[in-house]
Amino acid sequence: MAGGKNKGRGKTRKKPPPEQLLASNYIHEWVFREDWESTQRTMDANEFLPPPQLKRSMGDRVAFEFHCHSKCSDGYLSPSAVVGRAHRNGVKVLALTDHDTMAGIPEAMEAAHKLGVLIMPGVEISSLYTTGSGTEELVHILAYYGSCGPAKYEELNELLTAIRDGRLLRAKNMLLKLNNLKVSIKWEHIVKIAGDGVAPGRLHVARAMVQAGHVDNLKQAFSKYLYDGGPAYAKGSEPSAEAVVKLIGNTGGVAVLAHPWALKNPAAVIRSLKAAGLHAMEVYRCDGKVDGYGELADLHGLIKLGGSDFHGRGGNDESEIGSVNLPVISIYKFLKLARPIWCNATKSILQSFAEDPCCSKLEKITMFGKPYKLKLCKSINCVEEVIDLCLSSWLTKEERMEAEFEAIKLKLSQTVISKGEFQLPISIQ
Ligand SMILES: [Zn+2]
Ligand SMILES: [Zn+2]
Repeated sequence: MAGGKNKGRGKTRKKPPPEQLLASNYIHEWVFREDWESTQRTMDANEFLPPPQLKRSMGDRVAFEFHCHSKCSDGYLSPSAVVGRAHRNGVKVLALTDHDTMAGIPEAMEAAHKLGVLIMPGVEISSLYTTGSGTEELVHILAYYGSCGPAKYEELNELLTAIRDGRLLRAKNMLLKLNNLKVSIKWEHIVKIAGDGVAPGRLHVARAMVQAGHVDNLKQAFSKYLYDGGPAYAKGSEPSAEAVVKLIGNTGGVAVLAHPWALKNPAAVIRSLKAAGLHAMEVYRCDGKVDGYGELADLHGLIKLGGSDFHGRGGNDESEIGSVNLPVISIYKFLKLARPIWCNATKSILQSFAEDPCCSKLEKITMFGKPYKLKLCKSINCVEEVIDLCLSSWLTKEERMEAEFEAIKLKLSQTVISKGEFQLPISIQ
């Protein structure tokens, strides 16, 4: 929007209402945390105005994409290609939310850093909701973490691994049923489509069916064979939706119900998940339709979010990455809720490190949120220095001022790691 003085065909641009400006200010402060600080330092202390360099963008939209997939689950593009495409579409903050894995996050972060995009580590977790009468339905729950990733990552990873193992078994069962129906598909074919190290899912089976010429397109694969309860459908071994919401809360994440319009019993699912600690639900789509889900969100006091669910399939039926326009107020409400949660997760991660500091733990800490400023340091011999760099790339200045972080740094000030011993987690260019 640079130099856009005469935008709106000569009309004066309407000033956004004060609450919108405040919300926008809050979002900018978080997104541009490092630039924000340096510009604020030069500001007149009495002037409550945005920093001069950021003034032009104030009130402007900072595009967020909350939902997309890469090759690490059932998407078609690599994490870096997803980031590149999001960047070209103007996305400033991107949550990569692969199914049941966070394997793509480090690559996405590396690519995003070069393009000035901020990655929100995310994952879309498969789960089951069981009604009072015992019928089950598949529920997808999105989890969003702070820049340093989840607290208690092992706990989350254990659950994700179990889901992926269950899916592998499920894909094998679907294949068995298809072959019994004389729709012959080879296991190797499905594995090849899924790609290295990716647990095959229903979509991979469907793609194999299209490629083998058994059906004309993916839609037909689902409507004829693979739909819930369909002739080639097989059940997975997903955890209960309530347990997933609770685990997201326990690992320092924000839990969001994905595409509620795909549910048979949205009202019952939302009620039950809200009681388990659900924070938000998807409501906005690229077609802008809210379809009454906004009212459901309001009824249960849930934040209204949305994303494209981009997979990179191509074709006209897919929403483009970055195509969902979220209201500034929604993003503001999300960040207002998420930031203290993420700040607490950061504390717990660093506290457990301070109690038993070792290189392998440090590598784990920086697995998702590697501080890129590290490359500017000629030699790293003090852990406190590393933690300082981590904090400045993960949190805003105000958040870092909290007393607990000072205590952690003090505890670590005596810890020295000799040069050769400290391995940086990702290659430094
Ligand atoms: Zn989904
Ligand atoms: Zn999705």
